[in-house]
Amino acid sequence: MNDEIRIPVSLPLDSDGFIRRECPNCEREFKWFSHEESDTNAEVVDQYFCPLCGADAGTDSWWTPAQLEYMNGVSGPAMDQYVQDSIDKMFKGIKGMKVKPNRSFSLGVETPDALTEPDDMTIVEPPCHPNEPIKVPDGTPKGYCLICGDAFAV
Ligand SMILES: [Zn+2]
Ligand SMILES: [Zn+2]
Repeated sequence: MNDEIRIPVSLPLDSDGFIRRECPNCEREFKWFSHEESDTNAEVVDQYFCPLCGADAGTDSWWTPAQLEYMNGVSGPAMDQYVQDSIDKMFKGIKGMKVKPNRSFSLGVETPDALTEPDDMTIVEPPCHPNEPIKVPDGTPKGYCLICGDAFAV
């Protein structure tokens, strides 16, 4: 069995289309603009720079603890359903055996409440990459470009 189980998890954006991120280095939160997948304006990069401290990290290193917790919470019940379906399928092929669906079978994980994204923080556009705006906490004196790490005054 080589089946890869992909569980789609959608994380909320604020009303400007920004997603909350946390820097793995300074552990402060900011937001970056979430481009549509078809958006040709989006930069394709191997790493991002933290707008708050300028440290770089891989594109998948920026989850907030709440997002990680949420994704773990969502994948549990989805796995649950996957296991249940597999068992159903397995028994369907066996002739002469009656299977009572047992929907009480469960790993006992509950789906967490959906995350919400408040409209906080200030939008800034790095002069070098204005197509990659970020949101930083109010009162942040300077920022670093997400794409190239250049410092600029907010
Ligand atoms: Zn940082
Ligand atoms: Zn830049």
